[in-house]
Amino acid sequence: MKFIGAHVSAAGGVQNAIERAFQIGANALALFTKNQRQWHAPNLSQQTIDEFTKACLKFNIDKRFILPHDSYLINLGHPDSDALAKSRDAFIDEMQRAEQLGLSLLNFHPGSHLNKITPDESLKKISDSINIALEATQSVTAVIENTAGQGTNLGYQFEHLAQIIDGVEDKSRVGVCIDTCHAFAGGYDLRTISDCEKTFSAFDKIVGFEYLKGMHLNDAKSEFASRVDRHHSLGQGNIGEVPFIYIMKDKRFDNIPLILETIDPDIWKEEILWLRSHIPA
Ligand SMILES: [Zn+2]
Ligand SMILES: [Zn+2]
Repeated sequence: MKFIGAHVSAAGGVQNAIERAFQIGANALALFTKNQRQWHAPNLSQQTIDEFTKACLKFNIDKRFILPHDSYLINLGHPDSDALAKSRDAFIDEMQRAEQLGLSLLNFHPGSHLNKITPDESLKKISDSINIALEATQSVTAVIENTAGQGTNLGYQFEHLAQIIDGVEDKSRVGVCIDTCHAFAGGYDLRTISDCEKTFSAFDKIVGFEYLKGMHLNDAKSEFASRVDRHHSLGQGNIGEVPFIYIMKDKRFDNIPLILETIDPDIWKEEILWLRSHIPA
């Protein structure tokens, strides 16, 4: 079965995100569990946690298909030890918040070497950061997102994701989320069926579909292999409709959250309907 949604606003509290997802016809969603541009947030109250669970039941959203995204400030591959420690603490907090909400996944961008250490050294720090966070929590899986490779961001090559996973001790609690815009901007073409076949067979060979825990479905304003991260609405950008139809028809993308981060929330409902129209009966 396909579980499709969007990264909806959690304004007014995380419990409100669930109804927003329901309103656009989603049976999956992404959200921030705290302000994504601030380091600190008040702890989740028991009342908020209870309301979140109640909303999931009321709007028939299964928590397994909720993919929270961590703060943009966190850099788990940071070259400086103080800054790295700060990021690791914030990441543990994000993992714990997900756990408190009864969620099983946390999506994050791997990190940046900032030209101060080598990519390999930074990737090693990212693996270690994940190990530390997994030790501090019990049940949440750390879901590494591929990036467009802007600036010194790592994670734009499937090899980066594989290398990070390789350094993680508990492989049962690490996974990946592939963002189609980031893949395209990172140099993985998706414009034709044969491009999709090539890209996803490379993914399977290098990382493995067993690690795929979610997808971000975005078209791209950025050019192919530009290493620039600019999302667009489905079918309106430089990627086009092909990979989204391909994903709807392919069972390898069943039973994971498929999340829109497209730029026009007003058409999310239509985008979801359009995606569903391509699921084979
Ligand atoms: Zn992301
Ligand atoms: Zn994304």
